[in-house]
Amino acid sequence: MSDARAPTGSEGKAIESTTTVVIGAGHSGLAASHFLSDRSIDHVVLERGDVANSWRRERWDSLRLLTPNWQSRLPGLRYEGSDPDGYMTMGEVIEFIERFAKVSRAPVRTGVNVTSVRWADDGYHVTTSRGEIHARTVVIATGACNEPSVPRFHDAVPASVEQLTPFGYRDPAQLPEGGVLVVGASATGVQLAAELKRSGRPVTLSVGEHVRLPRTYRGRDVLWWMDASGLWDQRSDEIEDLTRARRLPSPQLVGTPERTTLDLNALAAMGVELVGRWAAIRDGRALFSGGLRNAFSLADLKMERLLDAFDEWAKTGGFEAEAGPPERFASTRPPESPRLQLDLRSGAVRAIVWATGFRPDYGWLDVPVVDAKGQLRHEGGAVDSPGLYALGLPVLRRRRSTFICGIEDDAREVIEHLAHFLAAPGDPARRILRPLRRATARVRL
Ligand SMILES: Cc1cc2nc3c(=O)[nH]c(=O)nc-3n(C[C@H](O)[C@H](O)[C@H](O)COP(=O)(O)OP(=O)(O)OC[C@H]3O[C@@H](n4cnc5c(N)ncnc54)[C@H](O)[C@@H]3O)c2cc1C
Repeated sequence: MSDARAPTGSEGKAIESTTTVVIGAGHSGLAASHFLSDRSIDHVVLERGDVANSWRRERWDSLRLLTPNWQSRLPGLRYEGSDPDGYMTMGEVIEFIERFAKVSRAPVRTGVNVTSVRWADDGYHVTTSRGEIHARTVVIATGACNEPSVPRFHDAVPASVEQLTPFGYRDPAQLPEGGVLVVGASATGVQLAAELKRSGRPVTLSVGEHVRLPRTYRGRDVLWWMDASGLWDQRSDEIEDLTRARRLPSPQLVGTPERTTLDLNALAAMGVELVGRWAAIRDGRALFSGGLRNAFSLADLKMERLLDAFDEWAKTGGFEAEAGPPERFASTRPPESPRLQLDLRSGAVRAIVWATGFRPDYGWLDVPVVDAKGQLRHEGGAVDSPGLYALGLPVLRRRRSTFICGIEDDAREVIEHLAHFLAAPGDPARRILRPLRRATARVRL
């Protein structure tokens, strides 16, 4: 399907025209391309770096996926290696996504930075570092983690303390000798705290709201349970507090060959000092919340509820005989008297690693569809502007959307909606969120 019109640019020159521009060549943009090609919709995929750019440039050296290999499923491509229960290294993830780009013959243009997208002439005018394109539809697949999200008070940290984010961190050797304060106890924070502690440094971990999970449960990877029980299929419009679900921190999981559980008890046993949420900084002192015990109890309670839901599903779903016996895990042990402040001028802490989450960057998007919190306004991937779509955002259409294994269904359905829009642009009747397979295990995460 090729767009015959050739609008003119600001200098009167004819500009390139295509039906769909996909922005970003991570797995989400490539999946969009796969389904666009299936429907013979003329498109290009614009990528500012290389294919799988964020895995190449924005991750640390030791990182492995926390989702097992068998869960790395993309449209038409499955993991076929010898270790389905293992966890991919960054090199393996890059290879896997590159292979996907190759087999799906995605029309990717690398080294093309999109600097503006605006509504124009019954479509969108896309300005890039290599020229201008007019497209009737645009798929935003630029990722949800373009920038580290760091509290504003970071600028009050004394200059003698080095500050890093996961984007700048590669390995422990990069940090000055001495103590490290890791802020945030989601997957990134617990993994970096463990790595830094193993490198011989004193490590303090500041813990706020977190999601605790065992690596394995009743003999299976805990993410197998999420998948098999249908919990990850819970649809976004069935979730009571969707905003909260979309902002949920990543679970405390690490992908290691030994399938170890990396929870706060494990970190405390390694000698990591646990402190509360970093609330403020005053006169060079970090002030931590006293609510550590509550944060622990809440995470323990939610984990118990989740495991109860898995047990219930095993019973009703006929999996009881196959699974090992139900397990329960020791509560998270609070330190006797957690420290409430830390003098950052004392020299005890030489570096801070902010593992406080990530946020998307839509600075290039000149369509008024970004809310005050910097998030795209969309319903199941249909952005609040005709012909504009998004893929690859947390809980976009269902809980599994956050992960690689969620893209296949999401991309198929979003591109189906896009195709309908192209065929009948004035018909608003087609709802993007049609009933999906119902989740069988129900629990509030
Ligand atoms: C630390 C970390 C660990 C994760 N671990 C897992 C895991 O174990 N399992 C799992 O399933 N998921 C994991 N995820 C979540 C998710 O799979 C990744 O965030 C994934 O990279 C998202 O893919 P994507 O294609 O949507 O976005 P990205 O991979 O971020 O791709 C977006 C692409 O868009 C490009 N781009 C951005 N802006 C522009 C622009 N203006 N012009 C042109 N190109 C642009 C970028 O260069 C990039 O290549 C993890 C995420 C993080 C941050």
